[in-house]
Amino acid sequence: MSVNEKNYKAILEKTAAAHATLVAVSKTKPASDIQMLYDLGQRAFGENYVQELVEKEAVLPKDIHWHFIGHLQSNKVKYIAPFVHLIHGVDSFKLLTEIDKQAAKHHRIINCLLQVHIAKETTKFGFDKEEVFELMNTIGKYRQLQALQHINICGLMGMASFTDDTALVQREFEYLSRLFIRLQTENPCFRILSMGMSGDYELALEQGSTMVRVGSLLFGARA
Ligand SMILES: *Cc1c(COP(=O)(O)O)cnc(C)c1O
Repeated sequence: MSVNEKNYKAILEKTAAAHATLVAVSKTKPASDIQMLYDLGQRAFGENYVQELVEKEAVLPKDIHWHFIGHLQSNKVKYIAPFVHLIHGVDSFKLLTEIDKQAAKHHRIINCLLQVHIAKETTKFGFDKEEVFELMNTIGKYRQLQALQHINICGLMGMASFTDDTALVQREFEYLSRLFIRLQTENPCFRILSMGMSGDYELALEQGSTMVRVGSLLFGARA
């Protein structure tokens, strides 16, 4: 038994109360664990590695919504383009144009979130605030020229600092939430704010998260 059913029910309750969606992060865990959670009703799963996601997608039920939450390299977009439900970590215009190109090949529109760098750590990927505004401007111009028709920017994703300092994490989530709300006024398609993991999803929900990505609380610690 490698799924914590009690945690699952508790997290579901909290996300539902906040009108948020739970993405179960199953990276490094076997397909049998995913099937177990699927059998409890879970349909949204998140993976970080392209190869692993492709292998799992092939053997698991077709009505799963697969979220790609890791760092995506442009040359790997083609492998997940046929089926991916939402790409959380878009962090460059180049990646966006590649997603658009691959989505077009499959006659799809792929949902994307822009990753915003909110943590103190310098290692995390993502745009800063000014870059997000610039990018949305650029996308708008392309759209007027009938380009980039196969991507849908649905919102933002961010990861808070890995720290026990809850006040800091709270401020980082609040910052992202404010940015999201500002962008929403001009972009009605903005409806997803992906923030919150096992250690901080409750803080994230308090700050307006609409989608939490929880792994270890559901599947146990990763090796
Ligand atoms: C691994 C991962 C998660 C889940 O982390 P947990 O702490 O196990 O809940 C969430 N988001 C991203 C981007 C991840 O890489």
